[in-house]
Amino acid sequence: MKTSSPASPSKLFSHLYIEKSIFDHPKTEAIRTKFAASRVVLIDHYKEVFNRPNQSFSAQSQSKKLILAQRGGKFLHEGSQYSDGFDHQQFFYASSVMGCLYDCDYCYLQGLYPSANTVVFVNLEDAFAELLPHLHQDTLVATSYDTDTMAIESLTHQTQEWLLFAREHPRLHLEIRTKSANIKGLKHALPSERVTLAWTLSPQYIIDRYEHATPSLEKRLAAIREAISIGWKVRICIDPVIYTDTFDLIYPDLIDTIFSTVDPDSIEHLTLGSFRLSQSHLRSLKKLRRSDVAFYPYTVYNEMATYPETVESHILETLLAKATHYLPAQRIRTWQRQS
Ligand code: SF4
Repeated sequence: MKTSSPASPSKLFSHLYIEKSIFDHPKTEAIRTKFAASRVVLIDHYKEVFNRPNQSFSAQSQSKKLILAQRGGKFLHEGSQYSDGFDHQQFFYASSVMGCLYDCDYCYLQGLYPSANTVVFVNLEDAFAELLPHLHQDTLVATSYDTDTMAIESLTHQTQEWLLFAREHPRLHLEIRTKSANIKGLKHALPSERVTLAWTLSPQYIIDRYEHATPSLEKRLAAIREAISIGWKVRICIDPVIYTDTFDLIYPDLIDTIFSTVDPDSIEHLTLGSFRLSQSHLRSLKKLRRSDVAFYPYTVYNEMATYPETVESHILETLLAKATHYLPAQRIRTWQRQS
């Protein structure tokens, strides 16, 4: 499938649904102004229009709804075995959006939320209140969880809210993970030593085949160079690596392409990790979509589906050998199954 970058977020949604309880929330009002011409529907609870069984996540052509809601439960989730907490004392994900404007075949969200719609929780102040008791020690929060927050930043401005909150709390570190090429929202914010922008990069072949509606590799690299030039800390993530017959060609070539255009000394880390998914999410993925990425003969280890050990070792050894041409090993992080 040909990959193309999405239109402006506000043009992607045919309807705006708003929970009655947050209709007057300032964030709701700010988002509503961007949908002046759209149909607004008041609802009691976001579940009335999200996660209904007949909604298809993969139907890019189907009209999508944006739902503004109040999160009643927890915003924060403890870091899992699938991710790197970068040695911070505490590591949380913040879940303030459900659903993603992008459409990656391998995304666990398809198993989690079989819905084409997106829910934005507008009461981010409650996430900050939940976090406050933890901030007596070094704490990492990954703000882009269950979504790509930068892809929808021009609508929500949630990243900007996180940056302002982090300025006031010196033990808070943020990781903002993205595939977006749009960093407009960061241009007027102050870069911080405690904030890392983490770009997921893949070979263009993988982007075309599996990362639908995401920006091209070239556009992501341009965004990385721009972010570095205005002072942001950047991490490059070749993670997840999707193993195909062309792996030995396209992934080492990706590393050469990256460092032909990005100064290796200007990035904080390179992270490498092969595809992994909980077994239950993989089962859902198989039911929802006929992508070959779901049907690879993975091995299951501690409830986690990942490549057989020989393939995983080959992936990491190949990429490490190439990456150490550019970076010292201490600045390369790898995700590996725990034995
Ligand atoms: S960008 Fe991330 S969250 Fe969005 S669909 Fe792709 S893998 Fe999922």
